[in-house]
Amino acid sequence: MMSATRHSKVMIIGSGPAGYTAAVYAARAMLEPVLIQGLTPGGQLTITTEVENWPGDTHVQGPDLMIRMEVHAKAMGAEVIGDYITGLDLQKRPFTATADSGTTYTADAVILATGAQAKWLGLPSEEKFKGFGVSACATCDGFFYRGKEIVVIGGGNTAVEEALFLTNFASKVTLIHRRGSLRAEKIMQDRLFKHPKITLLWHHEVTEVLGTEAPLGVTGVRARNVDTGAITDVPCAGFFVAIGHAPASELVKDQLPLHNGGYVVVEPGSTRTAIPGVFAAGDLTDHHYRQAVTSAGMGCMAALDAEQWLAEQ
Ligand code: FAD
Ligand code: NAP
Repeated sequence: MMSATRHSKVMIIGSGPAGYTAAVYAARAMLEPVLIQGLTPGGQLTITTEVENWPGDTHVQGPDLMIRMEVHAKAMGAEVIGDYITGLDLQKRPFTATADSGTTYTADAVILATGAQAKWLGLPSEEKFKGFGVSACATCDGFFYRGKEIVVIGGGNTAVEEALFLTNFASKVTLIHRRGSLRAEKIMQDRLFKHPKITLLWHHEVTEVLGTEAPLGVTGVRARNVDTGAITDVPCAGFFVAIGHAPASELVKDQLPLHNGGYVVVEPGSTRTAIPGVFAAGDLTDHHYRQAVTSAGMGCMAALDAEQWLAEQ
């Protein structure tokens, strides 16, 4: 079978805010970028509804925002391709990617913008209420639970940070953790334990999200004591899953240094990775901020870094 090869000066892998912003900047620098969208055209914001912290839009639907970014990138001259990269060789020049379609993409510079995904418990009821009381982003959705009870699950920094942040809105926050000690930093734990609005439920796992059908909404979670098997129902209007994020670094895990559980390491203050000509932006490299606007900012930086690097070659 004949397979096509497509060369570009800059290949961008990923179509979230980082990828599309990199495409806008690279196209305007006349680098004729090729952007590969992956399995989720538009990225993580396409699985949410209201976005209220994208500057310039008081309210915008996540999927609409991402369509506008795609249109913008194309209008500036980026080639946006619906394909999925299955293999990436960064050891030889030009960099070479193999894709699901059978096409081989080669490029002088690569911008990695494959993002990250929140880890979920994997319960059918969790899936059912996603966006209707179940969330993995307190910054995004906390505001919707003013004066209501909230449950957070997890025992790391994210869970503790989210629980503390959610006290700004909630009347009560219950943190459920499967063990008897937290992984989070001690200073964060101190704040958590001292907080009058926060209750801890140790040694419990959540087995089901409880809710109503019409309107679709969460009324509580069913928790099981992992030692005794005893069941406790905890009432809440919002259930925040904070059991970690998984960066999509599979393509580069054996080729680039990773840290903090799989995030691509970049030189501080830049998007340069350990391999010259390979840049990383957005949630793939950011275990801390994980926001659309910061990802877009890093996408811009990656395109500017790539432009400068190509000019030096
Ligand atoms: P992502 O958006 O994760 O996009 C990654 C892209 O890479 C996808 O297009 C995917 O298809 C592609 N990709 C992955 N692997 C491959 C591959 N092998 N080949 C080709 N392409 C690939 N942030 C806010 O600022 N405000 C909010 O209100 C907000 N709400 C959120 C709600 C939810 C439910 C979630 C999950 C996140 C929310 N976030 C919010 C966070 C925000 O979505 C992320 O910070 C942002 O999307 C990260 O952008 P990114 O470009 O780095 O990657
Ligand atoms: P994490 O440190 O990996 O913690 C995940 C937590 O979720 C753990 O407590 C784990 O329990 C629990 N968990 C995992 N799977 C579960 C499941 N299926 N059911 C129930 N509980 C489950 O993840 P994170 O908190 O997102 O942090 C990721 C990284 O980002 C860390 O390096 C963290 O330090 C960093 N971070 C830093 C800050 C900060 O500095 N302010 C803020 C946020 C994140 P066990 O403890 O039992 O394993």
